[in-house]
Amino acid sequence: MQRVERFDVVVMGGGPAGAAAATVLAEKGRRVVVLEREKFPRYHIGESLLPFTFHPLQRLGLIEKMRASCFVKKYSVQFVSPSGKASQPFYFFSRYDQDVSQTWQVTRADFDLMLLDNAREKGAIVHERCSVQNLIRDDGKVVGVVAKGADGLEREFRAPITIDCTGRDSFSTLRNGWRMGDPLLNKVAVWTYYKGAKRDDGIEAGGTTVAFVPEKGWFWYIPLHNDIISVGVVAEGKYLTREGVKDPQKMFEREIEQNAWIKSHLSSGHSLGEYYIIGEYSYHSKHCAEDGLLLAGDAFCFLDPVFSSGVLLALKGGVMAADAVHEALLAGDFSAGRFTDYGTYLREGIENMRKLVYAFYNQNFSFRMVTDKYPELTNDIVDCLSGDVNKDFSALFQAVAEFAEVPQALPYGLPK
Ligand SMILES: Cc1cc2nc3c(=O)[nH]c(=O)nc-3n(C[C@H](O)[C@H](O)[C@H](O)COP(=O)(O)OP(=O)(O)OC[C@H]3O[C@@H](n4cnc5c(N)ncnc54)[C@H](O)[C@@H]3O)c2cc1C
Repeated sequence: MQRVERFDVVVMGGGPAGAAAATVLAEKGRRVVVLEREKFPRYHIGESLLPFTFHPLQRLGLIEKMRASCFVKKYSVQFVSPSGKASQPFYFFSRYDQDVSQTWQVTRADFDLMLLDNAREKGAIVHERCSVQNLIRDDGKVVGVVAKGADGLEREFRAPITIDCTGRDSFSTLRNGWRMGDPLLNKVAVWTYYKGAKRDDGIEAGGTTVAFVPEKGWFWYIPLHNDIISVGVVAEGKYLTREGVKDPQKMFEREIEQNAWIKSHLSSGHSLGEYYIIGEYSYHSKHCAEDGLLLAGDAFCFLDPVFSSGVLLALKGGVMAADAVHEALLAGDFSAGRFTDYGTYLREGIENMRKLVYAFYNQNFSFRMVTDKYPELTNDIVDCLSGDVNKDFSALFQAVAEFAEVPQALPYGLPK
């Protein structure tokens, strides 16, 4: 017979969403277990944080650790045309007070380890190299999971509620048939790491650069510590594979030639040799919950990363999921319906960000069109792009609609 362990909450996945959820629940005195397939530190893409990440990091008690860390400080974002002309950088301090006016570029292996260690320190039990194999259902409700540990043995972890934070693996989303593609956001990303490539001077040294290639493809250029740059290109698959090119390195090297700024910045450095590729880009889960199960982070939704919203949404979703689960434990009610507010609130933020992502990819649109005509809306654009995604942006999107189609909200995210 399988060994059975009982908890208040099972968390599947120990990335930002899972670590955040486990930390908050442990702080509230809940017996919470995190089941993580990998041994941390483990590699992960997604290095550029948004200013509003400050708030969940503060809730997790990590601001001082972040300030003392070796992570590069990020004060700005700039956009660069294919000819190499850079926009005036946007500095967060021109809009926000001290706390939010600077964020970080993180190596995820280190950042995610810090988050998971924090969950442990706060009292969560963490099992690494422990891979969830199945959800356990009883009378139609999820009552735990079966997971295989490093010893190859399967164990049952039972709890009245499970939070799925398995990231793009989307464990229960896929098994429930809930994973829905995004009608237009289906890009491919190819990336690598450079050592010795150029950094801009002064406080711009840590800024993110978004550099355009034809057909609204774009490079990210993210300066990390130890003289490493994370650099990748995102575009339509058709564009990146044109003339039959299939090798990620060849795709990447060809695109370097399409942007003069990227070419000159990379010229003094060299790739560390490994090239990564990912397709099937954006997706949404039809539901945020079923009885006994709640989703957070990329397991709930993954949006095109052009505006670096993923870690923010994962941390914020993890914290919110923990608060909602804590309330469920107090009420002794784990039915899906009690997570309606959770799903609605998260989707509202996701939809606001998604509208800006759609506008970004519209061939005939630029944000300058909106700000030239409606300068008073500049702050709304900045707020949404900084991660303050749950504001009323109706005036902004009414203005955007004059220049580009604004997508309808998708009918997803409510509990099953
Ligand atoms: C190309 C690209 C660029 C990106 N750039 C950025 C960026 O600049 N800024 C940003 O904020 N975001 C970015 N993102 C998004 C960011 O990576 C994610 O949104 C973020 O990692 C989500 O956190 P999470 O905790 O939901 O999932 P993850 O970080 O993926 O963590 C999920 C964890 O679950 C574990 N797991 C999976 N299946 C199982 C299982 N069966 N059993 C046990 N454990 C399991 C995994 O090992 C993993 O550790 C980018 C994404 C991509 C693809």
